[in-house]
Amino acid sequence: MPNDTENWVERPLTMHEGRPLYPAALCPACRQVRPTHLFRRYLTPSEARAHGYSGHRRVEVETAKCKDCNFKRGKPLDRLTNVELRKQAQLGDINVFVAETIIKRREQAARREMAAGARKAHEGRIMRLWEALLSHLDAEVQGVYQQQKYARRSKREAEVNAAVIDFCTTYLAVLRKLRSAFYVNKRRAQQKPEHAASDWHAYITPDERTVAMNAWHAIPYAVREQMRPPVIATTHTTTPETNSGYE
Ligand SMILES: [Zn+2]
Repeated sequence: MPNDTENWVERPLTMHEGRPLYPAALCPACRQVRPTHLFRRYLTPSEARAHGYSGHRRVEVETAKCKDCNFKRGKPLDRLTNVELRKQAQLGDINVFVAETIIKRREQAARREMAAGARKAHEGRIMRLWEALLSHLDAEVQGVYQQQKYARRSKREAEVNAAVIDFCTTYLAVLRKLRSAFYVNKRRAQQKPEHAASDWHAYITPDERTVAMNAWHAIPYAVREQMRPPVIATTHTTTPETNSGYE
């Protein structure tokens, strides 16, 4: 074992009932008498070279302080920066392959995180677009629902109320079907809606529109005139391809 003169300390033996028990030394830092094996450590390759060794062999030196009090050299590898890892690898203090593996793994993790973040942001934008359609649709659902509720309590002729309720039921069925389609698209977050939020009604198929409008026109004109018209009555059917739509 090479003698590190700088760190050399006198090693007294612990006495137990007048006899030495084990080779031990006094640590100047913690003032404890501790076994001598705690006062040894290996030089790092760069330290070994600084001490005049080749750096290819492990060099053990004795230390003044015990292992627990000695300055802990270096942080754990996963807490070193990439620059520190490369520098220590260059100096031979850590394995080059180990350093490169850690750096590569970090770069992959960073790329994965960025890709995941971008995907999440993209999905978030799509979800908000469907959410906007849903809230416009819900306003209509609420309006029709109120008309239905009113018709059920109304003192009007039973025939009139039945027509209003029939329209509301028919139209609400169409709206609810649309709602669940929007909701599925929102949750899936894959495709942007083709239509603006205020054009949610463009997803209603021509057939559904016809059925609902027939129910609307079955309400006597004088009564209908007093009612809030459904959105489909105020928006005209556009060309079939813009109505094509939801699954
Ligand atoms: Zn100590």
